[in-house]
Amino acid sequence: METRRVGSLGVSVVGLGCNNFGGRLDEERTRAVIDAALGEGITLFDTADNYGNTRSEEFLGRILEGRRDGVVLATKFGGWREDLGREGGARPEYVREAAEASLRRLRTDRIDLYQLHTPDETTPIADTLGALDELVREGKVREIGCSNFTAAELRQADGAARASGGARFVSVQNELNLLATDDVDDGLSKAARLGMAYIPYFPLASGLLAGKFRRGEPLPAGTRVAGWPAERRDEQLTDATWDRIEELTRFAEERGHSLLELAFAWLLTKEPVASVIAGATAPEQVAANVAASRWRPPASEIAYP
Ligand code: NAP
Repeated sequence: METRRVGSLGVSVVGLGCNNFGGRLDEERTRAVIDAALGEGITLFDTADNYGNTRSEEFLGRILEGRRDGVVLATKFGGWREDLGREGGARPEYVREAAEASLRRLRTDRIDLYQLHTPDETTPIADTLGALDELVREGKVREIGCSNFTAAELRQADGAARASGGARFVSVQNELNLLATDDVDDGLSKAARLGMAYIPYFPLASGLLAGKFRRGEPLPAGTRVAGWPAERRDEQLTDATWDRIEELTRFAEERGHSLLELAFAWLLTKEPVASVIAGATAPEQVAANVAASRWRPPASEIAYP
């Protein structure tokens, strides 16, 4: 599998999003998905301390035991904590506490990519970067990244890191897919200008870009989308969304490809996308995603959608 750079790390261009683990997937099903990913040559695993209410990290720690050195483990801190009833935030003392807890759950001595899940407006970014820099110096973290940052927030963080001479964010993870394109002109272009890697999240729009949903037909049972509360379904599955899905499907099929292939190609031809961390609930999905990622048309051919 092709690899790209996230700072000093080499990551597979198809990664595995781990937010189903410990929530919709129990440990046995999680193991089947992880084994399939490793078998397909996926090396990047993206989790967070709050996925599955900490179980995603716990499962990864147990399942990857003995195979840790072959993978790039990315996790996050600072997002919503069910147990606290609020976001963890990014205060320096908390950064260390959260990192130590993730290291324990992941059963490892280092986190390869440690990401701030979401900006914390109450903590100066320079303070957070200082705490992260200490973890890097101690060897507990190899690279640091951020998530849900706007272009302005990226610029500010990069300026603060350069001023201090300490560790800088080498990646940003924001929402980007063919149904949510706003970040193209914001985080993505800023990341390119700052020389950061970009990791798009919800790359398949929670499965809507996998090609398994049709307007007017029942949502396939057991899918994430079918499990959404009615309010969310109504909000997301509008006529405009179905129009767009149909338009994209036609666009892909006219070129002899599937919607799933287009979803990967559209992201992988965008600079500076490093890895498409699609989530999966079954080994077959992992295999389909890796196969779909092999279509690499010139960016100009798929510039329109
Ligand atoms: P996603 O990758 O857009 O969609 C994943 C879902 O698509 C799967 O759960 C599965 O749903 C379906 N799917 C995947 N491959 C398929 C295939 N080949 N055929 C049919 N269905 C397929 O959404 P995501 O997993 O939420 O996002 C990816 C990762 O991004 C997460 O795991 C997480 O690591 C990260 N993320 C980060 C943030 C952040 O704030 N930083 C936010 C969200 C996500 P079914 O249940 O229908 O099988």
